[in-house]
Amino acid sequence: MGRLDGKVIVLSAGAQGMGRAAAEAFAKEGATVYATDINKEKLMELSGVAGITPEVLDVTKKDDIVAFAAKIPKIDVLFNCAGFVHNGTILETDEAAWDFSFNVNVKSMYLMTKEFLPKMIAQGKGNIINMASVASSIKGAPNRCVYGATKAAVIGFTKALSADHISQGVRCNCICPGTVTTPSLLGRINALPDPEQSMKDFIARQPMKRMAGPEEVAHLLVYLASDESQFTTGSSVVIDGGWSN
Ligand code: NAD
Repeated sequence: MGRLDGKVIVLSAGAQGMGRAAAEAFAKEGATVYATDINKEKLMELSGVAGITPEVLDVTKKDDIVAFAAKIPKIDVLFNCAGFVHNGTILETDEAAWDFSFNVNVKSMYLMTKEFLPKMIAQGKGNIINMASVASSIKGAPNRCVYGATKAAVIGFTKALSADHISQGVRCNCICPGTVTTPSLLGRINALPDPEQSMKDFIARQPMKRMAGPEEVAHLLVYLASDESQFTTGSSVVIDGGWSN
């Protein structure tokens, strides 16, 4: 018997990183998973995996979200995972970069939630999990100006949803990972002038002297997606190996 038997889960950013690890972990625990992403090639690696239906979806495009949601009559869990990490201080963040990050990291969650929440309310039960970060209202991380601002907004959004909709049976939590070895993180490190030194620096700032793997974060996501966490709502759950401690 799986911990997520019978649950229908929709998630974004399913092609790689924590979204993909979550899709695989959810399916292994018996859920029916709709894994969405804009990266069709990577996403289609999931086709044929039992329990997972990959669907190309840009979570910044309202009309596409509306059309996608119309195909999914029942939903138990929405995991809003998609996000983009901009590197820089405020002086290195132009208006376009600011707007882009808020669009991908925050407005996408508003658009997805607006479509799926009414279905949860009609069912009298639902569960929303948002991807925040320790780099947010929890910790000021260098060169994460707009990123930190967006992830602090995700925490506020999560708490507001929880306050408004728990009386209708819908709970909402977010997770706040520290540094996780995902393709985009490795890409960011490789783009730095001295990738080898930068990797050492990233590891040096970790109290455990290592980063997390996406599958470690997926364990937490399975718990939050399951009824084992049914008394938990409005929480920002930190999973950072003690980085923000
Ligand atoms: P990643 O950054 O490697 O992959 C992100 C995925 O999101 C990609 O497959 C990409 O195609 C998809 N995506 C981007 N824009 C999209 C859009 N508009 N619509 C649909 N899909 C889109 O994976 P990751 O590092 O696991 O990041 C996932 C989330 O976790 C992000 O919100 C990120 O900010 C957050 N996060 C990451 C870390 C880390 O250290 N990696 C730490 C804390 C939080």
